Amino acid sequence: MTAEREQLEADVLIVGAGPAGLACALHLSNLIHKHNESGAKPELSTENIYVLEKARELGAHQLSGAVMDPRGLRELVPDFEKAPPFDTPVGDDAAYFLTEKKSLKFPITPPPLENHGNYVVSVSKLTKWLGGLVEKTGVNLFTQFAGAQLIFNPEGEGIAGVITDDKGLDKNGKPKDNYTPGYELRAKVTVLAEGPRGSLTKQLGARCKIQGLNPQVYSLGIKELWEVPAGRIAPGWVAHTLGWPLPSSTYGGGWIYGLRDNRVSLGMAIGLEYQDPLFDPHEAFQRYKTHPFVGRILEGGKLVRYGAKTIPMGGWYSMPRPYVDGGLIIGDSAGFLNSQRLKGIHMGIKSGMLAAETIFDALRSDDISAHALAAFSEKVEQSWIKKELWPVRNFHQGFHNGLWAGLANTAVQMISGGRGFSDPARTRAGYEDYRKLNRERELVDQSTRFKGDGVLTFDRLTDVYHSGTRHEEDQPCHLVVLEPSICADRCVREYGNPCQYFCPAAVYEMVREKDAPKLKINASNCVHCKTCDIADPYQIIDWVPPEGGGGPNYEGM
Ligand code: SF4
Repeated sequence: MTAEREQLEADVLIVGAGPAGLACALHLSNLIHKHNESGAKPELSTENIYVLEKARELGAHQLSGAVMDPRGLRELVPDFEKAPPFDTPVGDDAAYFLTEKKSLKFPITPPPLENHGNYVVSVSKLTKWLGGLVEKTGVNLFTQFAGAQLIFNPEGEGIAGVITDDKGLDKNGKPKDNYTPGYELRAKVTVLAEGPRGSLTKQLGARCKIQGLNPQVYSLGIKELWEVPAGRIAPGWVAHTLGWPLPSSTYGGGWIYGLRDNRVSLGMAIGLEYQDPLFDPHEAFQRYKTHPFVGRILEGGKLVRYGAKTIPMGGWYSMPRPYVDGGLIIGDSAGFLNSQRLKGIHMGIKSGMLAAETIFDALRSDDISAHALAAFSEKVEQSWIKKELWPVRNFHQGFHNGLWAGLANTAVQMISGGRGFSDPARTRAGYEDYRKLNRERELVDQSTRFKGDGVLTFDRLTDVYHSGTRHEEDQPCHLVVLEPSICADRCVREYGNPCQYFCPAAVYEMVREKDAPKLKINASNCVHCKTCDIADPYQIIDWVPPEGGGGPNYEGM
């Protein structure tokens, strides 16, 4: 339907208020304040910077493990340690290999997993704190607004802004009494900071040639926050695990981080290029908690919160060209993450700062062309981002043939400056490795699925309840299946409907209707992890933003 939209104009529009987007807004407004104070021309205004965030409040959609390298934040807010928005500094760290019953401690913590000097953080709290600093500078920050559609330049490759989500449409797309059409926000520079697998970034990639050498690949991170009896875990204790319950053919591992107030962050990151289409990452994580090494930390405790999110793992070669006419891509949307160290917050912040410096120059010279904004890539090349990512450019790809080959590859990369056995090594797109089942046409009986014991382990619906997820029920489904006939026929036979397994929020369900299989979508459970958009083997699921304000609530996660 076509709607009369209110038009607004800005100098800079940042879509996504995560660490990268907020760092961009804060650094840019600091540069503008200094510039104006010096009396230099043209005068610029921080009020012409808009930040959009789809969550109901700042930080509500931010999820990470997380142990943060403070390097980026120290550059952005040099005195952050006076009032740190963190939980606790890392005290002790260790790495373990798990077999089904035993845990074997690595004699030394592998250097990439050493965390002295880093902080255990809640990225949700960190984001809220950063947002407060941004608001004080005069930037306009709007929560509950999603970027629904890019406005492309009529001429050439490039973007001119964003249309925000329509509010008040019913499930058939018809206006309700509270209908308000989305705004047409036009900006000189639009910055995509939407997190992993951004929906606008996907629109841009479909229109403009921005893909890097390799396609981006992702892991699914699943996390629970627990409260445990006093003395069970030291605040700042950080452990990473490899092995059980994942087979050596599946990329991934677990983490356990001690927080203040007897809280524990634990989770698993699992590469989405696993082969068994009926593999269930949520169930694997639940089984992880039953290992004696993990279970004894949690015993007598209780689940506080749950969340899931994808993580871009492809590294340097998977990063897209991050600039077009009038647009930049930063943070997880552009893959600024070191998968060997399992860290991206510091790079997200730094990428936001470098984008801010690029935009500042572009506004002053009134040149927002791709040619001018290409300075962003040059700044990245000259920064510590490149120094950190280049030696690990083949890290994730090295695990393509399993854990043992991956560890051997890593060793070779460490002595060959990142070259490894082959440079560049190819990344597969994640879903490519699913094994076809070639079964007779029949649905798998779902009643035998893992349910958990309700104490240590849980089913997906119990976990979704703990994610605080809420959506307006009467709105168009935000999980758009482009060819539903494939789900009920080919996918039943060829893959056994993997959406029922990879979704960590029980959104997809195959039911029988009139004696035929049919896909039922429980969209209101969606925790916005984006796994379905990535891992669907036919690439027919399009995740589009639901009405702004809907989604999980990761407060304190
Ligand atoms: Fe994640 Fe898709 Fe499931 Fe939503 S529907 S929780 S985005 S896999």
